[in-house]
Order: sequence, then structure tokens, then C-alpha cells
Amino acid sequence: MFIDSHCHIDFPELSDRLPEILRKMAENQVSHALCVAVTMPEFPRVLALAEAHPNIYASVGVHPDYEDTEEPDVATLVRLAAHPRIVAIGETGLDYYRLSGDLDWQRQRFRTHIRASRESRKPLIIHTRSASEDTLRIMREEGAGTTDGGVAGVMHCFTESLQVAEAAIEMGFYISFSGIVTFKSARELQDVARAVPLERMLIETDSPYLAPVPMRGKTNEPGFVRHVAEFLADLKGVPLQTIAEITSHNFRTLFGVPH
Ligand SMILES: [Zn+2]
Ligand SMILES: [Zn+2]
Repeated sequence: MFIDSHCHIDFPELSDRLPEILRKMAENQVSHALCVAVTMPEFPRVLALAEAHPNIYASVGVHPDYEDTEEPDVATLVRLAAHPRIVAIGETGLDYYRLSGDLDWQRQRFRTHIRASRESRKPLIIHTRSASEDTLRIMREEGAGTTDGGVAGVMHCFTESLQVAEAAIEMGFYISFSGIVTFKSARELQDVARAVPLERMLIETDSPYLAPVPMRGKTNEPGFVRHVAEFLADLKGVPLQTIAEITSHNFRTLFGVPH
């Protein structure tokens, strides 16, 4: 069985088709999915999904691409993260690709999430794009990861270099690969995936975006995580069952959900 470690099934592209999406998860042996929050106003919808469906987990946090939105503080994140269906803080991080100008607010927001993760003892879901140096620096300064008494997390939808992956792994983090790794143009990322140990790997869709080959161009959904797993099995020369078992085990270990 596979687990989609990162999806947005509360988004309008998917929320209207929920029964079909859950059925397709079952058909593709996708046992669970983590629905990741992106803003505070949308958080109740994400939590409601996790409360209604035993195989959907949820997170709480504010995505770095949302500038004009309610800013979370540490106490609020910690309070909301105490809910048993909330397994992580995020998604948080830095994105210098989608936004430019003075992004100090993004760095401050990232620090708030890391502090909330340390206090709540719930792992971080980190989004980083064109900002890996600052991401790693702030992770170190704020004590993200296991090296400084914090909790680990995941570098989600990973597209950075092997050096960045290794630095995150060093801090106790997992590296999550999305449909991007299946794209023909993603040679360098495929080399990174070959080098990242299975024991540190998660799989995800980031749906509704980034549908993997052979579904590229369609609206992505958690059932498609199977194609990411199939691609990684070929790439690493291991049976599909091995990818399924190890990435699901990693998910349960990181997010503290029962095996
Ligand atoms: Zn993201
Ligand atoms: Zn996301």
C-alpha cells in the first residue's frame, strides 16, 4: 500500500469529486493521504476532511506563496496542532521563485512555523524553491530537525541539489519526491533520487498540480502517487513493493501515526 504524503484535496479542483478520489485511492492501493493546509481561513476545511475520513490526515500552516493572508502566530499553530488528526506543521518555507521584492515577511513566517514545530513536537512540511541557502540557514538558526533537540520533517516536492538533500537528511529530514521526478526533463532530479537512501524517502502528488507521467497534463489526485512509486522503483532498481513498504513505513515514523 502507498501513502500520498502531500496533497491538497480541499482545493476546488478536487473537493467536488471527493467520493471518486477516495475510490481511486483504494483502486490504486493508496491507503492514506496527508491533506496539507495553506492558509488559516482554509484550515477548517482541511481539518474537516481529516475528521470525516480515517485515512486522511491533516496539517496546519500558512504557505509562503500567500502574501496577503492572516498571519499565524506560534501559540495559535501550537493550539491547532494539538488536535489528534493534525500530524504536522506546514506547509511552510521559502519561495523566491513565485514572489520577489522584500520577502522578510516570508522568512519571519517560516521562523514562526519552526518554533511552533519545536513547541508542539510535530514535524515540519517544508516547501523551498529558489531559496535553498536561506531555507537551510533558517532551519539551522531556529533548530529545525533532530540535531538541536527539535523534531524532523520533510522537504516536500523536492527539486533541489543532492547537497541540499544531504544537508536536510543530516538534520533528520526526509526527502519527498513528486510527479516532477517522472518528467523527461528532470534528469538532475532523477540523479538526486538515485542517491537519496530509501530510508529517507517519501512520495507525494502535491495534487491537484504536477500529475506524474503517464498522467501528465491531467488534474493530479492522490491515487496517482502510485506512478511516482513505479518510476522510483525502476530508477532505483528495486521491486515496487519495496518502495511501497519503505515509504509508508517512513511516513508513519515521521508523522507518528500507527503502523
Ligand atoms: Zn509546496
Ligand atoms: Zn503543497
